[in-house]
Amino acid sequence: MSSTASSARAYPVPPCLTDQEGQVLASIESAETAALLQSLIQQRSDYPPGDTRGAIQVVVEKLAAAGIQAEVLAPREQKASLLAYLGDPAQAPCLTFHAHIDTVPAGDLGRWSVDPFGGEVRAGKIYGRGAGDDKGSVAAQAMAFLALARAGVQMKGCLQLAAVADEESSALDGTVWLRDQGKLKPDILVVGEQTDNRVAIAERVAVGIDLTVFGKGAHGAMPWAGENAILKMARALTWMQDRLLPRLQARTYPHLPPATLNFGRIQGGIQWNIVPDSCKVEMDRRLLPGETREAAMHEIRSLLDEYSQRIEPLRYELFSQGEVAANINTPEDHPVVIQANQALADVTGEGRPLSGYVQTSDGRWFASQGIPILIFGPSDPAVAHAPDEHVSIEQLVEAARFLALLAMRLLARDTNPYKETN
Ligand SMILES: [Zn+2]
Repeated sequence: MSSTASSARAYPVPPCLTDQEGQVLASIESAETAALLQSLIQQRSDYPPGDTRGAIQVVVEKLAAAGIQAEVLAPREQKASLLAYLGDPAQAPCLTFHAHIDTVPAGDLGRWSVDPFGGEVRAGKIYGRGAGDDKGSVAAQAMAFLALARAGVQMKGCLQLAAVADEESSALDGTVWLRDQGKLKPDILVVGEQTDNRVAIAERVAVGIDLTVFGKGAHGAMPWAGENAILKMARALTWMQDRLLPRLQARTYPHLPPATLNFGRIQGGIQWNIVPDSCKVEMDRRLLPGETREAAMHEIRSLLDEYSQRIEPLRYELFSQGEVAANINTPEDHPVVIQANQALADVTGEGRPLSGYVQTSDGRWFASQGIPILIFGPSDPAVAHAPDEHVSIEQLVEAARFLALLAMRLLARDTNPYKETN
């Protein structure tokens, strides 16, 4: 803890920053940022039940100590989310820093080398469930927000801090609820998820598709009298996968992995001595920008029909329900992206290529609104949801500094490149 003051002094303010920018960034200290994340990890918010109240209270108290009153909202008791504002919420643009404060379960404790809810520091890294996904982003965004508040930075428009519940479930008690209540109305949205501190501008869309294949039930002692739906499914899936996979892999889009199809769950039959008359597979199809659910289903249907004509007769049903979100797909030359690239280069002293986010984020609930959406946060997505999840303190502080600089530049009183260009 004694390193607090020295770490602030040690920050070499890049010459490309203004005096005020340099002061704000230098005020974001390693010890304070790390301590905030440790407290967030120690307040469990893992599923089940995904109770975010304790972790939200950590942020409430942190902001209160700086004289900022936060709003805590919940559609039901355990699903608490926090909103706080700098500047005038009635004035555009509204720049929203959004990150989720709930986490997935720790899983098998035997696979962790630390207490998942201890927030232990080892060799410059903080360990625990949520260190990366997504309490690291909550901490970085809150520290950026606090640094701007403490410095009294005057801003045009408003900076909104949103720490939300229920992302690791349906988002219905978190982001979707807040959006539908009119509490989240960003003009510019920065979603904190693990991008290794790179600016991500695109995301695929997840579509769930169910395939059911029908056979003919019979006594298990007389399989010749029936048609085994599990075997039919196995043959048809393998045949389809062999043909579909190369097509999907050839479909690419800048910054994103190719389109994909995953067979996530299979169910079939009643018990061991009955020939199963149906078998169902739940599939996860990830759509690139430009792809639609209808086209993806048509493609699968065409292959199954071809299988049915050429290989063996196949009776099946294909089913998909629910709202399909739009792809996050912010143009590379959008003024906000250009500002973000510049701010990142100024903070890190290096150019970092734009990227895409491989998973899906809560940003998708705003993707149809045509607003610029960036995904940015510390930690490697590969450690999210895994044992020994961690984030480096250096990266955490770098993220907070980048976010503070970005907000200052997007919401600067004198020059507002985003509004000027639009
Ligand atoms: Zn996440």
